[in-house]
This record gives sequence, C-alpha cells and structure tokens, in this order.
Amino acid sequence: MVPHGSFISYLSLDFIEQDFNVPLVGNKYLFKWESDRTLERRWLEDAGIPFPRVYDTPGEIDGPAIVKLFGAKGGQGYFVANSSRDFHERAGNLEGGYQIQEYIIGVPLYFHFFYSPLSDELELLSIDKRYESNIDGIGRIPAADQPALGIRPSYTVVGNFPVVVRESLLEQVFDIGERVVAASRTISPKGLIGPFCLETICTSDMEIVTFEISARIVAGTNPFVPSSPYTYFKYGKDISCGRRIAMEIRDALATESMEEVTT
Ligand code: ATP
Repeated sequence: MVPHGSFISYLSLDFIEQDFNVPLVGNKYLFKWESDRTLERRWLEDAGIPFPRVYDTPGEIDGPAIVKLFGAKGGQGYFVANSSRDFHERAGNLEGGYQIQEYIIGVPLYFHFFYSPLSDELELLSIDKRYESNIDGIGRIPAADQPALGIRPSYTVVGNFPVVVRESLLEQVFDIGERVVAASRTISPKGLIGPFCLETICTSDMEIVTFEISARIVAGTNPFVPSSPYTYFKYGKDISCGRRIAMEIRDALATESMEEVTT
C-alpha cells in the first residue's frame, strides 16, 4: 500500500527507498522529488505545465507572493507579501528556509488522479478543495471591520470539501495529469503508479496553475468514501481511492504483473 503523507513523515526517505524490502504499490523513488521544493519545481518544468513563478530573493517581489516555510505542515506559518518591504515587515525570524512563490489569484482545486500501468490509462478519481484557517474565515468578517483587526491570512488546513468542476475544464485537467505522468518517467523509469494529486489554482481565465505534486494518496480523497461522481460514472458502482488500488492489485495478481505496479 502506498504510505499516506503523515506516514512518510515517520520514516526517512532513505529508509523507504533502500531498506524497505516490502514492495509498495506506487513509486517510492518519487517521494524525494515531491518533498523537495527544488526537485518538485524541476518536475513541473519538465512536464511543461503552468506553475507559479518562484522569486529567488525577497528583493524580486513585484506582485502578490506567498511565502512557504520549509517543513511547514499543511500551510501553517505561510504568509502573503506584496513587496520586498512588506516581506521584511512580516517575515520576522524565518528559521529553516522558505520559498517565495507568485501568489496565483483564483480558486484552489486538488485533482486526485490514478495512473494504471496495467491499462496505461489515467483516471480522474475525484477533486477536493481545502478548508483553511484563517483565509477561509476572513470573508465572515465585514470588509470595513477587517483593517482594524489587523488579520494576517494563514493557510492551515482543517478539512476538505468535495468539488465537481465544469466539464469544459476536464480536457485541461487530463492534459496536465498526462504531462506530469510522462515527466515522472524521466525521473524514475516506472514513473507514477496509482494515486497521485496535483494541487492547483484555477484563475478567472480558466487556466489551471499547478503549485504542488503529491505522488501518493492524499487526505483530500477521504470525502469520497465510498465513491465519487467521477468514479461512479466511470465504473457504474461505488469506487473509492482505496478500492481502486485494491482493483489494481487484484488485476496485477491475475495477470502476474505485480512488478509493473510496485517498486
Ligand atoms: P501539503 O500538506 O499539501 O504538503 P503544504 O504545507 O505544502 O501542504 P501547500 O499545499 O503548498 O502547503 O499550500 C497551502 C495552501 O496555500 C494551499 O491550499 C493554497 O490555498 C495556498 N497556496 C499555495 N501555493 C499558492 C500559490 N502559488 N498561489 C496561491 N495560493 C497558494
């Protein structure tokens, strides 16, 4: 079974890659690439899909930017800045490193894909958006009262909502998913196997900008137990992410192809 994000944090990546002799459904060699922001950026560049600009230094900030602390869990400690001065006013003592990304204005969409090496097919299992405090709570305070309260938006994840996107976006969704799968094969020959997630912002021009890849199951699939509209329409029965993985294992066993779906 592919380890869940929180499980990975208990294990060193070296341990997973080299010493973990139990075969995993999924590609464990990609975990290093998704957990290191520099490697992840190279993966997005290789895929040739839209992603946010990265500011190498605070002095380059010339528009809305989001400052992401390394090692932050679920958006905790992130902040937004509009200029270099703004950055220094808000940054305080940033220990442990950070990345400054262009802040994409739009709505967050997290696409849960499943790539089957057995059928060579990319499936869209489900889509979620996160419930983040306090950015999602600011709208509950009248705009006129906000300046006096001096609220600093933060992005700590507290939950997940299901989303169904308008149909005209789906071609773009599959295109970015397929490009990320193709690029993963240049990183590790077997490439992505099974569940993975693209974390994106969709702009008002309907452009999907990907800011993160998760090469595994994500917590956003939890609202889709036992099923999602996408898997229900594809299979005509309830299929969750966990069940889809079980189907792949069953098919691999039946065709003696376990090697194709494990690393
Ligand atoms: P994860 O648990 O997935 O590793 P994380 O700590 O790496 O989370 P991100 O997923 O990178 O955090 O970002 C947290 C939130 O910040 C997102 O859900 C989104 O609301 C916002 N966000 C991240 N990057 C951008 C961006 N470039 N533009 C606008 N909003 C962003």
